[in-house]
Amino acid sequence: MLKTINLHKKYNDFTALKSLDLEIQEGEIFALLGQNGAGKSTTINILLGLIKATSGDAFIHNISVKDHPEKIKKHLAYIPETVLLYPNLTGIENLDFFSKIAGFNYDKNELSALLKRTGLQEIAHEKPLGGYSKGMRQKVGIAIALAKDAKVLLLDEPTSGLDPIATAEFTEIIRQLGNEGSTVLMATHDIFNAVSVATNIGIMKQGELVQNLPSKAFSAEELQELYLKTI
Ligand code: ATP
Repeated sequence: MLKTINLHKKYNDFTALKSLDLEIQEGEIFALLGQNGAGKSTTINILLGLIKATSGDAFIHNISVKDHPEKIKKHLAYIPETVLLYPNLTGIENLDFFSKIAGFNYDKNELSALLKRTGLQEIAHEKPLGGYSKGMRQKVGIAIALAKDAKVLLLDEPTSGLDPIATAEFTEIIRQLGNEGSTVLMATHDIFNAVSVATNIGIMKQGELVQNLPSKAFSAEELQELYLKTI
């Protein structure tokens, strides 16, 4: 479903990504851990087509990111640390706007149903985004991903700054999406969250994927120990 082959990224003389070979199957949730600057966002940005790899390629549904960056976009949804939305528009209006940009025209009931699926309380749907908490905004981000019907989700520190309850709610939705067959690549610093939601854990160090393991092999404490030994 998502594959990178010998992916390299250089910024002038600095190598940000070295020979990344990654394969994530349908329904898998891959948590990518690593210190600041390890290359996690670089990986995600290459998959999104926001930056070009220096060499190697990535494939979504066997489609090359290098050759078909536009075609790839409709298979992907992206949720960054802070989902950028219009503060003056309501939750429903934001979802409607971004769905239309992606080429989908939903009626109000459908939009509301998408927001409800993320656990966003109905009372908030018609309120301006400006008054939403960060957790509520992230839920609108998930609703936009659902509206696009994207089967591959790229998440860059999506729970950073969320309180434990909002993190648990976000995690539960991601787990459900994985169970329903979505493929998820999530860059995170949250080891506890990674163990709880991911099927696979990768640890990056200075642009290299130095660990790639099934998460069920670990408790959070064991993963933390491995992480500290690795980085
Ligand atoms: P964080 O956890 O802080 O988000 P990260 O693992 O996502 O870190 P990246 O953002 O992928 O790390 O950065 C990898 C390396 O590439 C870093 O050393 C960063 O300084 C460098 N880098 C990223 N973008 C550029 C750029 N446009 N020009 C030069 N160097 C860059």
